[in-house]
Amino acid sequence: HKYVYDFAEGNKDLKDLLGGKGANLAEMTNLGLPVPPGFTITTEACKAYLATGEEPAGLADQIEAHLESLEREMGRRLGDPDDPLLVSVRSGAKFSMPGMMETVLNVGLNDRSVIGLSAQAGGNDRFAWDSYRRLIQMFGKTVCDVPGEEFEQALDEAKRAKGTTSDLDLDADDLRALVDAYKKIFAKHTGREFPQDPREQLDLAIRAVFESWNAERAVVYRRQERIPADLGTAVNVVTMVFGNLGPDSGTGVAFTRDPASGAQGIYGDYLANAQGEDVVAGIRNTVPLQELERIDKKSYDELLGYMARLEEHYKDLCDIEFTIERGKLWMLQTRVGKRTAAAAFVIAGQLVDEGLIDLDEALHRVNGAQLAQLMFPRFRLDHDFEPVAKGVGASPGAASGKAVFSSDRAVEMAAQGESVILVRRETNPDDLNGMIAAKGILTSRGGKTSHAAVVARGMGKTCVSGADELDVDIPQRRFTVGGRTVNEGDVISIDGTTGKVYLGEVPVTPSEVVQYFEGTLDPEQTDDPLVRAVHRIMTHADQRRRLAVRTNADTADDAARARRFGAEGIGLCRTEHMFLGDRRELVERLILARTDDEREAALAALLPLQRADFVDIFRAMDGMPVTVRLIDPPLHEFLPPLEQLAVNVAVAQERGEDVAKEEALLAAVRRMHEENPMLGLRGVRLGLVIPGLFAMQVRAIAEAAVAVVREGGSACPEIMVPLVGAVQELETVRAEAEKIISEVVGDSGVEVLIGTMIEVPRAALTAGQIAEAAEFFSFGTNDLTQMGWGFSRDDVEAAFFWRYLELGIFGISPFESIDAEGIGRLVRIAAEEGRAARPGLKLGVCGEHGGDPDSVHFFHSVGLDYVSCSPFRVPVARLEAGRAAV
Ligand code: PEP
Ligand code: MG
Repeated sequence: HKYVYDFAEGNKDLKDLLGGKGANLAEMTNLGLPVPPGFTITTEACKAYLATGEEPAGLADQIEAHLESLEREMGRRLGDPDDPLLVSVRSGAKFSMPGMMETVLNVGLNDRSVIGLSAQAGGNDRFAWDSYRRLIQMFGKTVCDVPGEEFEQALDEAKRAKGTTSDLDLDADDLRALVDAYKKIFAKHTGREFPQDPREQLDLAIRAVFESWNAERAVVYRRQERIPADLGTAVNVVTMVFGNLGPDSGTGVAFTRDPASGAQGIYGDYLANAQGEDVVAGIRNTVPLQELERIDKKSYDELLGYMARLEEHYKDLCDIEFTIERGKLWMLQTRVGKRTAAAAFVIAGQLVDEGLIDLDEALHRVNGAQLAQLMFPRFRLDHDFEPVAKGVGASPGAASGKAVFSSDRAVEMAAQGESVILVRRETNPDDLNGMIAAKGILTSRGGKTSHAAVVARGMGKTCVSGADELDVDIPQRRFTVGGRTVNEGDVISIDGTTGKVYLGEVPVTPSEVVQYFEGTLDPEQTDDPLVRAVHRIMTHADQRRRLAVRTNADTADDAARARRFGAEGIGLCRTEHMFLGDRRELVERLILARTDDEREAALAALLPLQRADFVDIFRAMDGMPVTVRLIDPPLHEFLPPLEQLAVNVAVAQERGEDVAKEEALLAAVRRMHEENPMLGLRGVRLGLVIPGLFAMQVRAIAEAAVAVVREGGSACPEIMVPLVGAVQELETVRAEAEKIISEVVGDSGVEVLIGTMIEVPRAALTAGQIAEAAEFFSFGTNDLTQMGWGFSRDDVEAAFFWRYLELGIFGISPFESIDAEGIGRLVRIAAEEGRAARPGLKLGVCGEHGGDPDSVHFFHSVGLDYVSCSPFRVPVARLEAGRAAV
């Protein structure tokens, strides 16, 4: 088994085996760049070590062999007393995990070789002793768990004794004394002397790097970044070069383009007479890289040449770490550099212009998460505002406004032109109008799939949920946090990306990218490089994608916006949202109806209102397909809550008022109470149980379509039946609907499709039968996830998902990103069996997953025809659908 690779043996495509750093060091070596010689111990060796607690057989010999050849190449031996070879031992996993794992520098120094090092450095005692004390410090801390503060205290004491605050003022004698102090600290904590055998130092350091893969901070970081836990790290053993040999030495970082904006140019920092960790630790101030031209023109020019070569070779922005040792430039690291979302788009566009990549490749260089970031307004954080609380960043964006504590108040104040933030413990469907009126929503309870979070995301509205430090007092219209009270009307700011809550108004900047999607910023006219790049890449994504993108919209305004954003139809119009507000009373009348006449009267009152809704939407979509879903939620959601009603009735009775109506309502609420409403009387079951309800909706849809066609427009309605689990349910509804449709449509030429949602696992498993009665399927992956996992979508995220994430049962909530192997399997089965039964069956998805980047790729791979998502996510879905297709 080959566990050790010389730099000359690897290449950039071996990241799995050599880690990112090792693979890129190999690549630079083979490009002929000046990389200090060394070798890489593979991730395989690390995995074997972590599995058994011992170095795998053969590893020690291979290290020995590579060390010997390194020594031959350098003409020095590791730790040789007269002329020591020193090495650094550096971690380097497949994915960059900055600062998470260990590095030990100056391995090979001991009481004797420190003298040799000094001689080698032209009698530079100070440098040699400084290097030695760094080794003991780093080795002690990372290899032997000696508390780092003790070393730092000793260093501070030495400086204090010298009357200085700068390391540079310590001379060789001071540092020699410091080495003694460090050794005592080492011995005190480890019960042994600092190891003098260079090979033992090397072996222990390698072991420590292996073990740092499982350091707590690394584990936490991997979980957050969704990096698999079993990859292991490689270990790079690299010949030391020194940036701290004097003013003609130094160390720095460089970027081939600006990682913040993408602008072309020279970006980076340089620190003279220093080693890498000084830059990271911020011990002294760096200078801009351009200054190096003045300090050491030869090295500067050489560096610029290498930077151009690396960009050309990697065809991307590279970041670089380098060291100059007495005027000689060494390249210590390179990689394709991290960048901001804006820079990702700008750079991808530039690289196309420069002929380095094509537009397909440009699509791979950006992603939907970056695009989403570019679409939200942002706080300008050049002001130092301290957050007072932190909740879940439930729906990104930045919003400031006056705190209000009820939906009505939000509507009222917004109508007066005020910006408001709706603050609630949690929200429910009653808060919808307030949420629409508000600039942002802040709750003290609930996670990413709480009502507030889901609805806010759907509206593209900023939301922070579950800020549990807030003590929200609705009756008193205020909240308190950290001893401060915010009353109604006080201005607060919330950041839906970070979950942070601020007092006062933090200034925001609007997003140019949204202006572009809205059509108010012409990409051909602007000189904003970001907008131009986004336009270009989006255009290409649209050309490439096979998936159509529709939107979930219940109002003509949303529909119109979604069209501007590129939606090609409505994939889900949730009609229940049309029954809120003033109309709730009509629904109440329907529920309370005792006779057929009363019920029909209530339905007759709803019919024209529904019809008008659909006319608006069909007009807005102008002939694009519009999937209207018949009413889905349990009807009692339209009634007041039981407790509140009971109290009202009791109080009114006490006062001797006439409560006949309230009592009837209360009785209805009691009658309709369900222990598990999400599994109760909802969806198609309502249609089967409440006579005339679905019929009224079907009639309103068909009449609206005919009306729009008669006025010269066009309409393509698709009627969708929710929560079907058996074909018989759908057949019953379908028979009734078809009768009404043929009656209404007559010879108008309007065509109405009838289909179903697939959101009950049984529907997915009997999709072949259901397809006989359905012209289309739309996967309701919210309910499919809820029922497939048995997770209440309104409760579980806040209740226990944190633990599931912690245990790694899943890396992300299955409500956010489709669980491909479980719930996704149901989708796949239904798609295949549905299409087998009815070739050409139209397939889409309208759950929240329709706008999630990873899920879009999955739906592409399953062969769906379209995804449907909230208007604000339409551009993200377009981009990801394009990316999935190239
Ligand atoms: C779904 O269940 O995925 C769906 C779109 O319906 P709703 O979210 O309205 O239950
Ligand atoms: Mg559903």
